[in-house]
Amino acid sequence: MNDSLSCRENLLGLPRPQLESFVADLGSKPFRARQLMNWIYKRGEGDFASMSDLAKDFRAQLAVRAEIRPPEVVKVQSSADGTRKWLLRADSSQAFEMVFIPETDRGTLCISSQVGCALDCSFCSTAQQGFNRNLTTAEIVGQVWLAKRELGEFSTDSVEVLGDSHSPRSGSSGLRERAVSNVVLMGMGEPLANFRNVVPALRILLDDFGFDLSRRRVTLSTSGLVPQIYKLAAETNVALAVSLHAPNDELRSELVPINRKHPIAELLEACWHYIDEQNGRSVTFEYVMLDGVNDSPAQARQLARLLAGHPAKVNLIPFNPFPGTRYGRSPLPVIQRFRDELIKGGVLATIRKTRGEDIDAACGQLAGKVIDRTTVRLGSKIIGVAVSQ
Ligand code: SF4
Repeated sequence: MNDSLSCRENLLGLPRPQLESFVADLGSKPFRARQLMNWIYKRGEGDFASMSDLAKDFRAQLAVRAEIRPPEVVKVQSSADGTRKWLLRADSSQAFEMVFIPETDRGTLCISSQVGCALDCSFCSTAQQGFNRNLTTAEIVGQVWLAKRELGEFSTDSVEVLGDSHSPRSGSSGLRERAVSNVVLMGMGEPLANFRNVVPALRILLDDFGFDLSRRRVTLSTSGLVPQIYKLAAETNVALAVSLHAPNDELRSELVPINRKHPIAELLEACWHYIDEQNGRSVTFEYVMLDGVNDSPAQARQLARLLAGHPAKVNLIPFNPFPGTRYGRSPLPVIQRFRDELIKGGVLATIRKTRGEDIDAACGQLAGKVIDRTTVRLGSKIIGVAVSQ
């Protein structure tokens, strides 16, 4: 069921001040909100009746007025390398994705912020589906809550299995699978086009009484909504990643159409402002390696000239082909040469390891198999992006 159809307040959508107000409306003291958050975010408890240190009548009130409801699991895919991908229900015909990537030193959860996306990047599987709707704050936070429960991470052992689930210890990769140490908003959608719901979700991720993640372990990835980057700098201090994908405006406008509205120079200025404001370390620039399109040594040198001397690092991403795409993946030696040129040009660069290749690895690919085609796309005309303030 869609959140908007429920008459009970989903507490996963309320940052601490809003939860305190909600609790006050029920006639309870603000510290009850912190007790509730402890149950929800530290212990993963979803049933008010089990919250034993809350007064019985308060629990009964909560059961009538509130709920703790993560998105419903439609399907789970597990890769031989330990990567796990969940398809989550948005409503009767729409779905979105969440991916967990275990590594030896971290566990990264990639979450979605929208169902589909309107920005129409030409190499993106999600873009093919168009835009359906923004996820609510509860649906964004609910992804992290759900993943931690499914991975058996909360201190309680009473993990209620939702949907098509499986044992939290069932991984075969030998990698540490249980800890969600990092969260990246890099799944379906443009997070800054859903500003109104994403910022409260970030607050819950960072709150000591919430998921208590360090700001360096939460990354928001944007395709370059420049005004919202300035706004974000005033609101939060999470790490920033930018989908750059090209070293010049001509090519970037073809790959990432929002570039026609906010060209590279304007985008980079916003990035440096963000780092200055947040006392941050660097912006990560994502660069998908497309065979014969953006992967030449000359393009690497052009990119290095843009970024050298700035707090920037480049993450080179081998392209994950999906059915219907016109692009192919650059061969590994080409990617390595590109990285070496960047390093020679004074820019820190790494190559992302490909993961989950035996499942529908490209973002949006799994959801694309089940959702209806939607129609809101930028296409070749940038006339403005619907942005929730
Ligand atoms: S790359 Fe990101 S911003 Fe571009 S269409 Fe895909 S989801 Fe949207």
